[in-house]
Amino acid sequence: MSKTAAAPERASAPSTRKGVYFFGDGKAEGNARMRDLLGGKGAGLAEMMNAGVPVPPGYTITTEACRQFFDAGGRLPERIAREETTMLARLERLLGRRLGDPENPLLLSVRSGAPISMPGMMDTILNLGLNDLTVEGLARKTGNARFAYDSYRRFIQMFSDVVLGLPRAILERELTAAKRREKAASDVDLGEKPLRALVARLQRVVKGEIGSEFPQDARTQLMAARDAVFRSWNTDRAVHYRQLHGIADTLGTAVNVQAMVFGNLGPTSATGVGFTRDPSTGEPDFYGEFLMNAQGEDVVSGIRTPRPIHFMERDLPEAYAELREITGRLERHYRDVQDFEFTVEAGRLFMLQTRRAARTGIAALRIAVDMVDEGLLGKREALERVEPDHLEQVLHPVLDPAARRRHTLLAQGLPASPGAAAGAVVFTSEEAVSRGRKERVLLVRAETSPDDISGMNAAQGILTGTGGMTSHAAVVARGMGKCCVAGCTALVIDEEKKTLRIGSRTFREGAFLSLDGSTGQVLEGDVPTSDSEVVRVLTGQLRPKQAPLYQRFERLMAWCDEVRRLRVRANADVPRDAKVARSLGAEGIGLCRTEHMFFAPDRIPHVVTMILNAKEAREARVRIGRLEAELAEAPRSERQRLRGELERARREGRPAMKSFDGALAKLLPLQRADFKGLFLAMEGTPVTIRTLDPPLHEFLPKKEQLLAEIAALRRAAKSDPRRERLTRTLARVEELHEFNPMLGFRGCRLGLLHPEITRMQARAIFEAAAQVAKSGQAVRPEIMIPLVGDPEELRRQRLEVESVAQEVMASQGTAIPYTIGTMIEIPRAALLADEVAAHADFFSFGTNDLTQMTFGFSRDDCGRFLPEYVEAGILPHDPFVSLDTRGVGVLIQRAAFAGRRAKPGLKIGVCGEHGGDPASIDFFEQTGLDYVSCSPFRVPLARLAAARAALARA
Ligand code: PEP
Ligand code: MG
Repeated sequence: MSKTAAAPERASAPSTRKGVYFFGDGKAEGNARMRDLLGGKGAGLAEMMNAGVPVPPGYTITTEACRQFFDAGGRLPERIAREETTMLARLERLLGRRLGDPENPLLLSVRSGAPISMPGMMDTILNLGLNDLTVEGLARKTGNARFAYDSYRRFIQMFSDVVLGLPRAILERELTAAKRREKAASDVDLGEKPLRALVARLQRVVKGEIGSEFPQDARTQLMAARDAVFRSWNTDRAVHYRQLHGIADTLGTAVNVQAMVFGNLGPTSATGVGFTRDPSTGEPDFYGEFLMNAQGEDVVSGIRTPRPIHFMERDLPEAYAELREITGRLERHYRDVQDFEFTVEAGRLFMLQTRRAARTGIAALRIAVDMVDEGLLGKREALERVEPDHLEQVLHPVLDPAARRRHTLLAQGLPASPGAAAGAVVFTSEEAVSRGRKERVLLVRAETSPDDISGMNAAQGILTGTGGMTSHAAVVARGMGKCCVAGCTALVIDEEKKTLRIGSRTFREGAFLSLDGSTGQVLEGDVPTSDSEVVRVLTGQLRPKQAPLYQRFERLMAWCDEVRRLRVRANADVPRDAKVARSLGAEGIGLCRTEHMFFAPDRIPHVVTMILNAKEAREARVRIGRLEAELAEAPRSERQRLRGELERARREGRPAMKSFDGALAKLLPLQRADFKGLFLAMEGTPVTIRTLDPPLHEFLPKKEQLLAEIAALRRAAKSDPRRERLTRTLARVEELHEFNPMLGFRGCRLGLLHPEITRMQARAIFEAAAQVAKSGQAVRPEIMIPLVGDPEELRRQRLEVESVAQEVMASQGTAIPYTIGTMIEIPRAALLADEVAAHADFFSFGTNDLTQMTFGFSRDDCGRFLPEYVEAGILPHDPFVSLDTRGVGVLIQRAAFAGRRAKPGLKIGVCGEHGGDPASIDFFEQTGLDYVSCSPFRVPLARLAAARAALARA
């Protein structure tokens, strides 16, 4: 599939804005606010220059010029080229050196710089201006021919790679050969003579490759380098990086042309990179690395091993003191942690770059809270410094960063549920449960289904071959706060042979793999993980006093709560998850999927009995009801016959009805206990319980499994009650088979045809509520009817629930404040929202199904094409992850508006996966919804996203 055209967008009208901005001699034409135009690096250099920081002078060609460059088919407009000539002359005057002057040459660096940092994705050229003459001039001026030729060979290598497009390895080979000849351990050990010879050799190789001499004219070099840096906006890796990070292709990059300073000038020169605080932990430690007598690329390329920056204090004490002073000043100036690059040229310090440092979640949290304490930030600003995703990282265990480097990356799937997990591979839920008692396991499945729940629970992590971000595995794993990598298409799973193939590697059951749920990576072997401190406190393993990270987390959360308007609830089905949700700040349950309770091992036999008898029981009831009605109206002459028929109908229907009602009676106390647990865990906050939603056949054994068992029994014995039972189950499984279960007999359709199920669930809810209320704790049940497409469906289900509520309250002598509402997850319900609202006390948008049905994309099958859609730019993102505001969002806005117009004060929330997605939360805030509900471990993230959304509109 073709990639998106990555050329920045056409300017609507040719701009006459300045195309080149100068900085030098303590003044700059730009500043930090001009990031969009000058790129992050250009704006940073300008700001540093204005702040009196020693920065080599130069100029920045704007991102707008980059767009014009692409518009003109890869040529810089004449007007801007002229501006550049003027700026170059100004630079030459300032420094008293000229580009290409054999006596006193000016050398330049030409570097990219986009408005949003894309580290290492675009190109850079250093030492530009060197040729066969200027190199001699440089040697004479510095009195250091070795240095001059080392710089020249670097320039030839970089220019050949970036501008001439030669494979890097060709020239690298020559360098390696030269080192071998000289028995030099590293580049610095090559002396002047071998470097001269190397330069000549490199030039010959280049000529052989391109058919002409290596360009000697310095101006030609400059123009070619500048254009190559613009073009590097569209290298494959840059395009890929933008896709991954959602950066618009239309931004373009600026080009920074700057006078060179040399870290490779001798023993009092150095170059390095660093951070004003530790970007992994946030500790206020000056953190970084440097190399003596080296140029920038040596530090990052790994050719030589850099040393920790504090050693610089001994080697270059004055430059180090100045570096500390300047970087401290920069941090205070920007009021944020800085990631900087510097060079020391013959003892003199120059800053080459400063930018906001990328950081882990833990570091982001610590830095934001510490900076409030240090008086650098206000509380509200601190909320803008911590990304919602950062908070997820704070809660989930992580793969140890140092250890993971020693393990092979095997495959890449979707980062479905963050965290880290390592364990022995198992292929079935049963195996996960049994093996999981003794050791750590990873459940590997093509896709999970609801009956994998126990296996998922027993496993450390889940890995699936198909399915998207809202697939069963992803949703359930996030709910459990369990690491999950989904849709990893490289997996070839053979359940029978119990093998997993990834590329050419085959893993048997028991082999160890590790998962990173935050990146979707699958690694070989057992990578150690570290547990989250916050979770250790919340689960009572650690005291808050001993947990500084937890304390910061709590403070930041409290600041969120001061400003947010949207309430945050959790999707939780069992008391354990509800308690976690509550401890993470959930203000209620927005969705309890009761079917998850049906899957527990103590319930499944009753559930199966219920399903096996549901149809017959219903038919018997319908028949009996019809006969009773007929009898009531019948003339005397007919009564005798009808009584007989009624008697027979009752007799024939009795076994099925008895089994059906019996199963419900068994389920009633179990569900009641579940609900009681939820009410107690939620401490009087609202608890939304949804009546049964999924198609019934999901609870029955699989057809293939039944066929195999029946065949085995057939071989073993003639007749056997177990075989008969299985055969009956098989018949029911076949009867219940649906081609499109997602659009089939599920949701309120079940409750409408089998009202006894709704009534049992309602009874369990109200009886549990009554028990809790009697114990003196407040309780607020909200009963939610799923998959409503017509107001009449809701009206009828509501009547069932209300009649049970009245019965229970009367018999228990307790009043329970309750509400009845509906999910809005079928587009038709959204379109008829005003009519639906007539029967609803609340709406909760089921954005998973609403997205599925609005797009007509199956939640379970879209993994086959949706990633390609996004990559090709047909859709900007996966609409199951982040709400499609243009389509689904408009339905939500209209439904919310119509619902509230019909019923002022109607409470409206969201309980689809989007309730935990920051961009979607922003939209829900804008739409004026009342609450979002998300998986327990996303609650803090949602609190922060809600606060940020409110601040953005304050
Ligand atoms: C939804 O459809 O958004 C929803 C919450 O329900 P489920 O994911 O259980 O279908
Ligand atoms: Mg749904």
